[in-house]
Amino acid sequence: MQLLDGKLAAQAIKEDLHQKTSTLLQQGKRAPHLAAILVGTDGASETYVASKVKTCAEIGFESTLKRFPSTITEEELLQEIDELNNNDAVDGILVQLPLPKHISDDKVINKINPAKDVDGFHPVSVGNMVSGTPTFIPATPYGILLLLKQYNVETSGKHAVVIGRSHIVGTPMSILLSRKSNPGNCTVTICHSATTNLKEICLQGDIIVAALGQPEFLTADMVKDGAVIIDVGITRVADASKKSGFALKGDVKFDEVSVKSSYITPVPGGVGPMTIAGLLMNTYNAYMNKQ
Ligand code: NAD
Repeated sequence: MQLLDGKLAAQAIKEDLHQKTSTLLQQGKRAPHLAAILVGTDGASETYVASKVKTCAEIGFESTLKRFPSTITEEELLQEIDELNNNDAVDGILVQLPLPKHISDDKVINKINPAKDVDGFHPVSVGNMVSGTPTFIPATPYGILLLLKQYNVETSGKHAVVIGRSHIVGTPMSILLSRKSNPGNCTVTICHSATTNLKEICLQGDIIVAALGQPEFLTADMVKDGAVIIDVGITRVADASKKSGFALKGDVKFDEVSVKSSYITPVPGGVGPMTIAGLLMNTYNAYMNKQ
């Protein structure tokens, strides 16, 4: 079994982007600039956004964090996005989801200028991804592709089983793995909450991407020998032994599945850091597209 170390792979990407940013600054240009919008005070969202902003600073990117109370109206939020759309010094815009119930995720995402859609959720980006046109790929699947590439994991001709069909992870992952590309070229089965014979399907998987958000769901009896396991899940589980009061759990029962796998991502330190790397790559590309 080989660990797919997302922390290490993300570090290599960050160092490369840091170097590229230093070169831009030496040439008298400005640095790439990511603007993040956070509405409300959800603990996990706060942590994710803080980590994105901190990583921008580490590699020399500019970042702006716009925080709003959960009482902000949809109209006000849309206006804020318009301002960022019209600000030439901002390359990428991300809106941390979930948003409060009175605000439509779709309206907000659709408001972002597709040229700045570094989360890759805008319908224009999704359409481009499906048609194979270069575009912003959602950060988590993008990070997973970068990780597979970094470790030269063979994907062509393999059967990939993706568990979960969200717009953020499962659906784009299934499309990307099926494309004629490297990584990619897989035969893909996408499973979800209505799949009846999940275990049977998983046992056929040369590659399994678990993105359902149920801690330790994928067990050894569901995995064939030598499978590549990508664990996307992150769930906070109460743990009195931790200072924070919780531990992060993936969707894979790591101890038993790792023994059977050829490659496996840990949680934490697997897909999480690669998601941030994917976002930074998208932001850099958004900047370069304007040059
Ligand atoms: P989601 O809740 O939007 O989607 C979950 C999907 O899993 C759904 O499509 C559902 O049909 C499917 N599902 C639920 N129960 C199932 C079951 N018993 N069998 C088969 N399918 C089932 O979640 P999401 O946004 O896609 O996130 C999934 C997990 O990944 C969460 O734990 C989330 O925190 C994590 N996540 C991690 C990162 C990262 O950077 N590591 C990024 C995004 C999401």
